[in-house]
Amino acid sequence: MKKKNDNRRKIISVCLFSAVAAVLFFVAAVICFSDLSEHPFGDEKITAEATVGEADKTESNTSKNNTEETTAEKVTEHITETSRINEETGRIIVNPEQELWNLVVVNMGREMPSGYKPELAEILSTGIYMDKRVVPFYEQMYLDAKKDGIILTPYSGYRSYERQERNYKNLTETYMSDYGLSRKEAAKKAAMVILPPGTSEHNLGLAMDICNTKDSFAFTEEYKWLTENAHKYGFILRYTEEKIDITGIVDEPWHWRYVGTEYAEDIKNSGLCLEEYLQMKGIDF
Ligand SMILES: [Zn+2]
Repeated sequence: MKKKNDNRRKIISVCLFSAVAAVLFFVAAVICFSDLSEHPFGDEKITAEATVGEADKTESNTSKNNTEETTAEKVTEHITETSRINEETGRIIVNPEQELWNLVVVNMGREMPSGYKPELAEILSTGIYMDKRVVPFYEQMYLDAKKDGIILTPYSGYRSYERQERNYKNLTETYMSDYGLSRKEAAKKAAMVILPPGTSEHNLGLAMDICNTKDSFAFTEEYKWLTENAHKYGFILRYTEEKIDITGIVDEPWHWRYVGTEYAEDIKNSGLCLEEYLQMKGIDF
């Protein structure tokens, strides 16, 4: 009887030992595989961090926890590339370097990243610049209009983010000191005169204000020519009276935005503003 009990105990011990060993083996395998599965994200991290500099890289290597956190953040950023939010301004941060760069929309709800600067080129030795990819189209439009006796004088093209920021800050501070407004109130008032940095199409280098010595551009020959021909060169009239509710910008007959020859005519004929058109087309802008 005792021997039988001893045998049973032995069998139970062996079973227990085997069970514990199996569990330990399973745990080890999970740890091992989960480590391997992080490698693709690790690669992503390296790519993402390559753009933020050596200092960030060193910092993230000092603690494993920090590295994991940074990795997760970078991956999330990568996935939601076109729908990131600027916590300070509450605006969506757009990606001006996406494939359809010519259709990127900035407005009071959408801004470009603060560090973005397009590659620029000068228009016909005027000292006025636009995105390098747009310049040939503006120049061709200028030359063709000239043949018709129309001079499309470029007045304001690319404006740097920094300049926009400086002007916006100065006006905000003026409103604070002159009217005793809070910073928030003053900033809101300033935004009605100067667009906050990164929300102007001029910061993207994709828009041109075309001037004329006469007061009202909407009644000039230049404006008439543009409404009939600008789409052939990829430009559209961006801000009209009837779309103020959507664009947030008053009627600006002088402001012409490049969207590309592939889209300009269709947008013009649709009667929609750029925001509406892209939404209708289901284009992620
Ligand atoms: Zn403008």
